[in-house]
Amino acid sequence: MPARHFFIFLFAQLLCLAAARPSPAVILQDRQLYLDAKKDYEQLAKSKPAPQARGQLEKIAERFERLPQEYPRSRYCDAAYYYAGKIHQDLYQSSKETRSLDRAIRNLRLLVGKYPASAYAGEGRYRLALALETGKGATQEARQQYAIVAAKYPSSEWGRKSRERLEALRTETARDVKQESRPVAADTQRATQASAAPIVLKEKRDETPQPRLNKPAAPVGLRKIVIDPGHGGRDPGAVGAGGIAEKDIALAVARKLAARLKRESGIEAVLTRSDDTFVPLEERTAMANKEEADLFVSLHVNASPNGDAGGVETYYLDNTTDEAALRLAARENGIAREKISDLQFILSDMVQNLKLEDSITLAHRLQGSVVTQMPRRYGEVRDLGVKKAQFYVLVGARMPSVLVEMFFITNKIEARSLGLEEYQDALADALFDGIKKYQEGALVVKKL
Ligand SMILES: [Zn+2]
Repeated sequence: MPARHFFIFLFAQLLCLAAARPSPAVILQDRQLYLDAKKDYEQLAKSKPAPQARGQLEKIAERFERLPQEYPRSRYCDAAYYYAGKIHQDLYQSSKETRSLDRAIRNLRLLVGKYPASAYAGEGRYRLALALETGKGATQEARQQYAIVAAKYPSSEWGRKSRERLEALRTETARDVKQESRPVAADTQRATQASAAPIVLKEKRDETPQPRLNKPAAPVGLRKIVIDPGHGGRDPGAVGAGGIAEKDIALAVARKLAARLKRESGIEAVLTRSDDTFVPLEERTAMANKEEADLFVSLHVNASPNGDAGGVETYYLDNTTDEAALRLAARENGIAREKISDLQFILSDMVQNLKLEDSITLAHRLQGSVVTQMPRRYGEVRDLGVKKAQFYVLVGARMPSVLVEMFFITNKIEARSLGLEEYQDALADALFDGIKKYQEGALVVKKL
């Protein structure tokens, strides 16, 4: 065959191939959309550096962005958000255009918000943190995001990089504080005086709104509370005699508490889950931050291999070396006991940002209220006290936040009581009163 004919033949073959591609009705369109965009992206990345390929890269990013819009239930949505975010982030690196940065942040936020368990979530969250830190100067939120990556993926590349960034930011903050010293401290004090909040170390200016941190709490006290029933869906939490599950007790009490708050206090109550669904831990605090809640209360039921163990204990977030608290935190976090040490590192960095004093006060109010008010006719109520531990679900909350372990599901007498509607009502009432007492205390402090 002469060369010219061969090329005509080849061209015809290619045309046929193109025409013979399965019709959109037959193939999985979302999959095809994703694979095509990915292939084009990989080819382009190999052949041209980002600055020269800007126009083409933007078009490919748009194709990735279209996927979750057109096929919101596709199993490629997380990957599509990841690639769209990554492309825009790379474009921002070379152009410094805020348009690219904003789109990177939007896509990465959607990735980690909607698909926290995705294989892309670790890198995605690290990239989000980096974009927030370097692009927006939003160091506060960047640190929270780095902390989550470091805690969740301690041995991955992203976990390691996140630890490095946290370390670098810590050094920077320490230096800033030293340099600014007196006048800044005085300003900070004046600004936070009214709220009786602990003094927050000076941060770089955040462009993203961080209202709970920068603004004193509303003078009228509590406006909104996020109540977090532990576990849910495929995660039953601790399971006790007769198959009674922690997730069900936590949900029942949370709903009763929310109803009472709504009915009698005018405080808005938001549940992190209102039915038996699985919600990842970091989404729970993220919800509280997004809602700009004034308090975050996580409800759980304790468990022990010792069937006689019983009682109530309330936790706030802090480092501890107490072995029992470490074991409990490991169980509630769903990670191995040994990995808690990673959280320890992260927390030493973060504790300064927590409303620690307020969290401790809230813990005492709830604990005291449950211990004194729970009816004794169901059995004794042991006061195990207010304690600290590294609870993952509390990491990153921007408001006072506590975790209540309401009795032991592994204790036969307590498990039986917990299953009773009237006992759950009594628990919700006790927690309600604890919140009211906390509110009254907060109001007194503010009037002084
Ligand atoms: Zn639990």
